[in-house]
Amino acid sequence: MDLHKPIKGAGTIYKTYYKRLEKLAINTFEDFLYHIPFRYEDYSIISKISHVQIGEIVTVQGTVVDIKNEYTKKGKKLQKAKIQDDTGSIDVVWFNQPFILNIIRKGDRISLSGKIDWYIHTLVMQSPVYEIINNSPTIHTGRLVPVYPETNGVSSKWLRRQIYNIIKENKQNLLEYLPYSIIKDNGLLGLKESIEQIHFPNTLEDSIKSKQRLEFDELFFLQLAAMKRRFEWEKKLIGHPLSISKFKKNIEEFWANLPFTLTNAQKKAVREIFTDLAGKKPMNRLLEGDVGSGKTVVSAIAMYLAHLNDYQSVVMAPTEILAQQHYDTISNLLSPFGVKVALLTGSKKSSKYQVVSSKYKSKEKILNTKYILHNTDILVGTHAVLSKKVNFDNLGLVVIDEQQRFGVEQRAIIRQKGKNPHLLSMTATPIPRTIALTMYGDLDLSYLDEMPKGRKYIKTWLVSSEKRNAAYEWIEKQITETKSQAFIICPFIEESESMQSVKAATKEFEELTKNIFPQFKLGLLHGKLKAKEKGKVLQDFRDKKSDILVATPVVEVGIDIPNATIILIEASERFGLAQLHQLRGRVGRGEKQSYCLLFTESSNEQTLKRLKAMETMHVGAELAELDLRLRGPGEIYGTTQHGIRQLKVASFSDFALIEKTKKTAEKIFPKLSEYPLLQEKLKNITIKNISPD
Ligand code: ADP
Ligand code: MG
Repeated sequence: MDLHKPIKGAGTIYKTYYKRLEKLAINTFEDFLYHIPFRYEDYSIISKISHVQIGEIVTVQGTVVDIKNEYTKKGKKLQKAKIQDDTGSIDVVWFNQPFILNIIRKGDRISLSGKIDWYIHTLVMQSPVYEIINNSPTIHTGRLVPVYPETNGVSSKWLRRQIYNIIKENKQNLLEYLPYSIIKDNGLLGLKESIEQIHFPNTLEDSIKSKQRLEFDELFFLQLAAMKRRFEWEKKLIGHPLSISKFKKNIEEFWANLPFTLTNAQKKAVREIFTDLAGKKPMNRLLEGDVGSGKTVVSAIAMYLAHLNDYQSVVMAPTEILAQQHYDTISNLLSPFGVKVALLTGSKKSSKYQVVSSKYKSKEKILNTKYILHNTDILVGTHAVLSKKVNFDNLGLVVIDEQQRFGVEQRAIIRQKGKNPHLLSMTATPIPRTIALTMYGDLDLSYLDEMPKGRKYIKTWLVSSEKRNAAYEWIEKQITETKSQAFIICPFIEESESMQSVKAATKEFEELTKNIFPQFKLGLLHGKLKAKEKGKVLQDFRDKKSDILVATPVVEVGIDIPNATIILIEASERFGLAQLHQLRGRVGRGEKQSYCLLFTESSNEQTLKRLKAMETMHVGAELAELDLRLRGPGEIYGTTQHGIRQLKVASFSDFALIEKTKKTAEKIFPKLSEYPLLQEKLKNITIKNISPD
C-alpha cells in the first residue's frame, strides 16, 4: 500500500468519507497515522465478572448468553443482555440502540468496557462500549483506547478501526528514516514503535514517549525543509550586485528630504536590506511591522537604490485601495528625484489596464502596457501586474505587500518577470518570532518594532462587569462632546462567521439601540450582509450618519475612518492578544486621542493578567509572542491567515524542542545525500504556502 495515496478515489468506502476526512486534514493514508489522539480512555483493567465493584470502570469479557429488545413503560426501547464468564454473569443494558441486536448475537464472545452500576438489587453495566472478540486483539475495549478529534460522521470508533488496519498493513513500510545517531543522541523511540504506541499504547508512558518522537520529527522536517528552500534560493545568483557607495550622495539627499526622520527600527531595516541588495545572492527578506509602522518608506528606499542602479521595481498589493495608497506615497517620495512611478490596476475581465502615472497625467487609460513598462521605473499594482502582458526590461526588485494574501504561484510568477530579482515581502500580521523562525526559516527577517514619533498610543482599559455602565456613560459623553464615533465589536463566537454569530450580533445591536444608546444612530455590520448593504452601512458611518458601528469580529473593518476614536470589544477574553491588537488598530488613525475598551466578564486571574498586557504593550509581534507563551499556538490569530499549517503533533510554544531540532537539522543538512530515506521523506512533505518561495 502506498501511504501517500490520496484517499479520494481509493475505493468505495471512502467515497462518502473523503470529504468528511478532509475536515480533519486527512487526505492521504499516511495522514491517518498522524491523526493523533488527544486523550486515551483507560479501559485497561480487565476484571473477572465476580470481582467487579460498583462505580468501577472496567472491562469484562465473556459469552453472550442472552440478548433481546425490551420496552420500558414509557415505550422506549432497551437492549438487554447477559454476559457470562467462568466466575459468574452480569446484566448489560443499552438504551435505544436496537441495531445492536444485529451485531451482537447469542453465543458470541464479547468484550465490554464501561462503568458498573447498581440497578434494582443487581449489578449492571450501562451502555458499555462493546466489541466482538475474534482472533485479533481488541481495540475499543480492554486497553488504553485512543480518542481522536472527530467530525460529523467520523467517530473515534471508525477512525480506530481504519488506523489499526493501516498500521497492520504497513508495518514493513514504516522504515526508520532518522539516522541512528539522532535517535540515540535525543533518546527517541523508533518510528514504527512510535506510530503503534501513539495510537494503541501499552502504557501512558509509552504514548508520551511516542508523542515526543513524532513532535521531534515534525519540527525537524520543518527545519530541514526551510534549509532546503534557502539552499535552493542561494544557488541563484544575481546579475549585478547593487552598488551603494556609488550612490551615497543620492541616498543622503533622499534621506535629508524626507518629511520626517526615520525611526531606529526603520534605519536598521534599511541597513539590513541594503546589505542584502549589495550581495551576489537575491535578497529574500520579510519585513514585519504593525500598520502604520512605516514599511512603505523602507521599501521605497530600496526601490530608489534599485533605480539608481538601473533596475526596475514592482510593488504588488492585494487590493486596489492599497495599491493606490502605495502609488501615492511612493510617487510623492520618489518622483522629485526623477523616478517614474506608474499604477496598474484592473481585473482580468476588463482587457483594459488603467495606468495612472505622474508622467501620463492621472486617470489616463493606456492599452499598450509595453510602452509604459519600458518607461517606468517603479510599477505599483494589484494582481494585474501578474498579467502576461506585463513585462519588464530589467526587473531587479520585487516588493510584495501583505504577502500572505498571495499564493505561492503568484509570488513565483511575479519573480519570473525578472532574472532572479531581489524579493522584499511585507506583512502587518503579527507573527511571533519563534514561529517566523521555524516556518520562514529560509527568510531573513526585519522587524519594525517601533512606531514613528508623535504617534499617539491608543489608550486601552480593561473594563470589568461592574464598570460596564460607567463605561457606556463615558462613551456617551465622548460621542456627544467630541463628536467622535465608536466601534462596538461583538463577542467572538467562531472562526468562520455562521448564522449564530450573526444572530448574536443582531441581538446585541437591538439591545444597544433600544436600551443603551437610544439617543444615537447605530449601524450593524456582519459577514452575511450583501456587498451593497455592507457598503451602505460603512458609507453611512463614514459620512457620520451613524455614531456607532456594531460589528462582528470577522468583518474586515479595514477601512480608514479617522473620526472613529473609540473601540469597545465585548468578551475580549475570547480573543488572542494579537487579534485584539489588530482590532484596536481600527482606531487611532486621526489626530485625536483614541481609546480601546476591553470588556470582560471573566474574573480568572490569569485571563485578566493576559488582557492587562494590552494596556501597556503596543507592538503586535510582541503581543503575539506573549500569547504564544501564555495560551499556546492554537490560539494565535493570523497563523491560518498566513497559511501556516497547523502543527499536527508538536507545538510552536515548545521553544526548547524548536531549538534542538534546528541544531540537529543544521548538522544533518550538509550530509543529506548520505541519508536516502531522509531525503525521500523530505520530498514527500508538502509544505503549502508557507514561504514566499
Ligand atoms: P505601514 O507599515 O502600515 O505600511 P506606512 O508605510 O503606510 O505604514 O506608513 C504610515 C504613515 O506613517 C505614512 O503616512 C508615512 O508617511 C508615515 N511615516 C512613516 N515613517 C515615518 C516616520 N519615521 N516618522 C513619521 N511618519 C512616518
Ligand atoms: Mg502598508
